[in-house]
Amino acid sequence: MTAPHTLSADAVPAVTTAAEAGLVACPHCHLLCRDAAGDDPALRDRLRCPRCDGRLHPRKVASLSRTWALLIAAAILYIPANAFPVMRTSTLLSTQNDTILSGIIYFWTSGSPELAVLIFSVSIVIPLLKLVTLSFLAVSIHRSATTGTRPRAHLFRIVETVGRWSMLDVFVVALMVGLVHFQGLAVIQAGPGAAAFGAVVVLTMLAAHSFDPRMIWDRASAGPPATKQTPTGNRHG
Ligand SMILES: [Zn+2]
Repeated sequence: MTAPHTLSADAVPAVTTAAEAGLVACPHCHLLCRDAAGDDPALRDRLRCPRCDGRLHPRKVASLSRTWALLIAAAILYIPANAFPVMRTSTLLSTQNDTILSGIIYFWTSGSPELAVLIFSVSIVIPLLKLVTLSFLAVSIHRSATTGTRPRAHLFRIVETVGRWSMLDVFVVALMVGLVHFQGLAVIQAGPGAAAFGAVVVLTMLAAHSFDPRMIWDRASAGPPATKQTPTGNRHG
């Protein structure tokens, strides 16, 4: 028996997805419901979960456009986060402004290279890698890429896992406030860079949350998007 469409070696094996079986999982309480809407967009907007009354959609709504909007906002704020001071240390005699980079240089030259490397990793490298990786995944969806699905799915899981540790970035900034140039009469305030940096952390987390990884597999299966399938029952081999 031949499959209705040929799959490349990298593509997903022929399995019946919930969408093909006419089912949709509630995004709020995860109850598996019958997808009565099918191709009808008017009915789709009215379809609700019988248990929690949440809206039922086979995929996250406007996933790609939301991801892009959050990524672009994060990329723009990444510049002031690194260019503006994250903290301002004022003493009776002087005021000193420190950016993330000047903090890293301070730790590197004052005999704490481990701390310098840690701050460099969580404050500069990881946010940048999250931005680049999510953009790459979103572009691959736009291009309907059918290769490298498993590596891309792995990549997304890594971004998600790293996202859980994003608050470490904020902790590092707090650590820097406590450690750099701490003097008895000094007043330490957060600079404009700190707000931008916090926004970058939150926006990249939200971008990863908005991205629906099932889109990777939708394109890989070489068939039409899941919403266009009609609930004709299981496909048996
Ligand atoms: Zn529900």
